[in-house]
Amino acid sequence: MKHMSDCHCLPERPREACGIFAVYGLEDAAKLTYFGLYALQHRGQESAGIVASDGKQVVEHKAMGLVPDIFREEILENLKGNMALGHVRYSTTGSSLLVNAQPFRVQHLGKCLAIAHNGNLVNARQIRDELEDQGSLFQTTTDSEVVLHLAAKSLKKGLEQAMLDTMSQVKGAYSMVVMTEDTLIAMRDPQGFRPLCLGRLNSGFVVTSETCALDLVEADFVRDIEPGEILIINGKGLRSIRLEEKSRKAQCIFELIYFARPDSTVFGQNVYLFRKKQGELLAEEFHVDADLAMPFPDSGNYAALGYAQASGIPLEMGVIRNHYVGRTFIQPSQSMRDFGVKVKLNPVKDLLKGKRIVVVEDSIIRGTTARTRIKTLRKIGAKEIHLLVSCPPHRFPYHYGIDFSSRGELIAAQKTVEEIRGFIGLDSLGYLSMENLVKATCIPRADLCFACFDGNYPVPIDESFHKFCLEK
Ligand code: SF4
Repeated sequence: MKHMSDCHCLPERPREACGIFAVYGLEDAAKLTYFGLYALQHRGQESAGIVASDGKQVVEHKAMGLVPDIFREEILENLKGNMALGHVRYSTTGSSLLVNAQPFRVQHLGKCLAIAHNGNLVNARQIRDELEDQGSLFQTTTDSEVVLHLAAKSLKKGLEQAMLDTMSQVKGAYSMVVMTEDTLIAMRDPQGFRPLCLGRLNSGFVVTSETCALDLVEADFVRDIEPGEILIINGKGLRSIRLEEKSRKAQCIFELIYFARPDSTVFGQNVYLFRKKQGELLAEEFHVDADLAMPFPDSGNYAALGYAQASGIPLEMGVIRNHYVGRTFIQPSQSMRDFGVKVKLNPVKDLLKGKRIVVVEDSIIRGTTARTRIKTLRKIGAKEIHLLVSCPPHRFPYHYGIDFSSRGELIAAQKTVEEIRGFIGLDSLGYLSMENLVKATCIPRADLCFACFDGNYPVPIDESFHKFCLEK
């Protein structure tokens, strides 16, 4: 049987997942959440929102764009209360529209329910069809909304039971936080695909996708929310309940490879040290005679550092990144077509001319970006170019990503390593082995999802699911 899990992608790199930051029992909760979202901006740049509660009233603000552009001082002033829930979004289900921005909020039986979700539900369409048949009206085209509808259906049984009922029906990846006027509920799917952790700040609590956000607001890391756990935080303190059904953990290896920030610890593994170790193990696997090693910033930075230290080949920052390029800029006209690439990255010609170079990258998806980059290095006179990739060939698709819904778009699914080397125009090409990828983590292999490399998807596939399938 074919399987799938939650995923999403870009034309050349899988994109970051969404980010969640929630606060309970702290003054200026919305402002703290604003800073938390700032730290999580790398997980989503399409839209952001904050919902705040003073225990009675819930207010919200969300918009398209980046956190600093959306929230101004006067907006945060209006988000009063000592509880807040924030979200930064990269759309994995549903279009990038304000209506789909999160947190998403509804009113039911006089109670407010707001949700911030990271991940994809594999059976969202099926549940939505059933709910619509029963007369439910949906406002968005996201999978997250089905969670609120399911929760609302069981709300009469109490909040805890409503969450348990909901969790037993949804399948796939979800790290999420639900907020009512006076309670925060943090949940992680039984496989634990996406990260979610609990922090403590003075007498209050913080729940967030990554520990780098805890660091920014000076909260102490307490623990990860466990896969299959529902953690309820309210005036009675903390209470944890779990789904009875036991599943194997399948934490996404791509959180470590590139979704998470290097200063975060996810699934108990520090990301920086993991990426550096990938580079060290690349040096063990491949011996190359070269004058220098370099990354294309920022992909491969830490693996390149680890590789250089372990191999003794000096690390150079051979390509300079323009830090002031925004997400979009006016496309150059045909006659200037190379500007698009050069505006972001420019090689240091005098450093690289006549040199034997080892480039360390964190991935090759379609191979077209790598090809363009290598062409540029050849043009400025690099003598030899060897490419080392800090993970195995990426052969299986992220089924939920519209851009990679088929294996046809993945170069490693179509070509051998030797053919990829030829296509990109390299002197040599090497991929880190699966054994060494596992060795780079301190996490047992059985607790991670490697489906993009080995095709073993831990959650059954709905073959017809895609990013826009909830848009009729
Ligand atoms: S490794 Fe698994 S969870 Fe991670 S992106 Fe690939 S299929 Fe999705």
